[in-house]
Amino acid sequence: MTAPEPTPECELCEAAKITEWFYEDDTCWVADCEVCDVPMVVWKFHGNEPPESEVEHMLARLGSVADDRLGLDGWSFDRVMRQIPDHFHAHARDPNWWFRRFGRK
Ligand SMILES: [Zn+2]
Ligand SMILES: [Zn+2]
Repeated sequence: MTAPEPTPECELCEAAKITEWFYEDDTCWVADCEVCDVPMVVWKFHGNEPPESEVEHMLARLGSVADDRLGLDGWSFDRVMRQIPDHFHAHARDPNWWFRRFGRK
């Protein structure tokens, strides 16, 4: 008998179990990104091509959380999926996120 192969874990699927969510529905959830410390929306399905209607829905949900937490006009969408290109997600970044996250504590 061979040992079971270690299954490659997707960080975003994994994060779904450990992160505190600001918002959740059947399509997506919104939480703070552990890496960046800004709100992000994550599709509930593993894949990088959600239907356009769901993309709009997700960006709208992320937008309302970002407005609450970062202030109206205090942030912008970042849809570049640098770390995890195969699972749809988007960040709402405020101009100071980099300093807050990586600057002096
Ligand atoms: Zn992030
Ligand atoms: Zn995933």
